[in-house]
Amino acid sequence: MLPFLKADYGNASSVHQRGRIARHGIEAAREAVANIVNAHPSQVIFTSGGTEANNQALNVMRSRAASGRCVVSAIEHASVLDVAKQLLQYGYELNQCGVDVQGQVIKEHFVELVATKPLLASVMMANNETGGLQPIAELSAIARDAGVIFHTDAVQALGKIDVDFAATGAHMMSLSAHKLYGPKGVGALIVEPGFDVAPLLVGGGQEKGRRSGTENVAAIVGFGMAAMLAQQERTPRAVHTQALRDHLEQGLRALPDIIVFGQKAARLPNTLFMAVPGIDGETLLMELDRVGLEVSSGSACDSEKTGASHVLLAMGVDPELARCAIRISFGKDNTVADVDALLEALQQQIHTLRSLSSMAWA
Ligand code: PLP
Repeated sequence: MLPFLKADYGNASSVHQRGRIARHGIEAAREAVANIVNAHPSQVIFTSGGTEANNQALNVMRSRAASGRCVVSAIEHASVLDVAKQLLQYGYELNQCGVDVQGQVIKEHFVELVATKPLLASVMMANNETGGLQPIAELSAIARDAGVIFHTDAVQALGKIDVDFAATGAHMMSLSAHKLYGPKGVGALIVEPGFDVAPLLVGGGQEKGRRSGTENVAAIVGFGMAAMLAQQERTPRAVHTQALRDHLEQGLRALPDIIVFGQKAARLPNTLFMAVPGIDGETLLMELDRVGLEVSSGSACDSEKTGASHVLLAMGVDPELARCAIRISFGKDNTVADVDALLEALQQQIHTLRSLSSMAWA
C-alpha cells in the first residue's frame, strides 16, 4: 500500500503516468479479489466496506420496483437488517426468516417465505457472532427457482472458509477487507455477470457507473494483497485457528456452567460464542482487556449498541443469558499460550466476579 500513499499518489481516473500506475494497482487488486471468490474481475465493485456493499445490495429493491418485499434472516448483521427496516419507510415490506436453537436458518420457513415471491432474499454465509454457517447454495437455489434475487453477506466467511461466488449461485455477495487482514474501510460487492445493480453513489461514474467516487487506491491495493495471501494461506490458517478453538473448548469443559452457543452447527473454524451465566458479558470483556486479552461481547461491529444480541434472541436464548455472551475469535498469529492465558483469566474472573455478586446479594 505504501507506494500508493507516497510516490504513486495518482488518481486512477487520470490518464497521465501516475494515474495509470494507480489504475494498474486497482485492476491487479480487482483480479486478486475476483480470484479468491472464483469470479471474473468485471464482477467486482469496490466499495467502502461490507456495510456499503450490503446497503447497495438491498437497495437494488428500489431500482427494480416501486413496492415489494424482502426476506432476510433474523440473524443478519445490522448493515443488512437496518437497511431492510429502512426500506419499510419507502413502502417496501419485510419478512424475517427464523433460525433454530443452533442459529441455522429454518429451511421450511425460508421456502415458505420465498414462495410468496418477494423481490429479494438475503442470508449471510457466516454469522459474525456465533460463526454459524448457512447452506447458501441451497438457499440461493430455492430463491432462484422462485425468481427471487438472492444476496449473501460473506464478510465473515472470506479468508476463513472456501468462498466460491459461482458455486453459491447468488446474484450478489458482500465482502470486507478487514476480516482478512486487509485495511479497514474497503470492501466489495460481487455481482453475477450481466446483473444490473443500481449505484448507491452517483457522480464521476467510477466502477463502471456502479459506484462513483475517486477510488481509495491504497486501500484497494491492500485488499487485493490481503485476498492473495488469504487465498494462499486459507487452509493452514483454518487448521491453526480451529486447533486453538478446540483447545479452548476442551479447557472450557473444566470450568463450571459455561455455555457455548451454536456449537452443534457448522461454524467458522476460528469463532466461539459463549456465556458464563450470571456474569455480564461487558464486565467480563473489560476484565479480560485489563490483562491484555481482547474479546468482544456480541459483534465488535455492533458493539456501540447495548443490550442482548439479536442473534441469540432469534435463537431463543433467554435475554438474561444473552447479556452474558462474549465472542472469542482467533487469528493466524494467536498461539496455544494465548488460549491457556485466556482459560486461566476466565477461571480467575469467574471466581472473582461470582464472589463479588454473592457479596452484593449478602
Ligand atoms: N457483515 C458482517 C457479517 C460483519 O461482521 C460486518 C462487520 O464488520 C459487516 C457486514 C460490516 O462490514 P464493514 O465493517 O466492512 O462495514
